[in-house]
Amino acid sequence: MADHASESCGAGGCGPRGPLTLEQEQILFGHGTEYPGSSPLNHEKREGAYHCAACGALLFRSATKYESGSGWPSFWAAEPDAVATRRDSSHGMVRTEAHCAQCEGHLGHVFTDGPPPTGLRYCMNGLALDFRPDPQRATSAGGASYVDHSSGWAS
Ligand SMILES: [Zn+2]
Repeated sequence: MADHASESCGAGGCGPRGPLTLEQEQILFGHGTEYPGSSPLNHEKREGAYHCAACGALLFRSATKYESGSGWPSFWAAEPDAVATRRDSSHGMVRTEAHCAQCEGHLGHVFTDGPPPTGLRYCMNGLALDFRPDPQRATSAGGASYVDHSSGWAS
């Protein structure tokens, strides 16, 4: 059941960033596919989490992303219960369609030619994903570049 409540939070994710673009709408809810190689997420190497662009649910983590060479952001595993699949026999092929388990937005397809340990390749449309990099953690040994923002306090 699609629920577009803007406040919805998935496991670890909280709500969409903003209105979808027309291209995102066409992929997520029109079952579209972006041009291969068009997504900046193909080259995204930072640590972080990939959320559904439509509802904000947490779908993938950077730890399972890999370079498949397909031209689409690829992962070998999804977060548990975050991505649902169904049989897709369109375009004269039988494929496994992948969609957000929370809002049913179309994400891409799942193939079985991925790397270990799963052997799966989640071939995703970058436009269906909202990458949120992990916050840069302050190193415990640091302090040299520490900036004091507490100057509003009267001491
Ligand atoms: Zn979603």
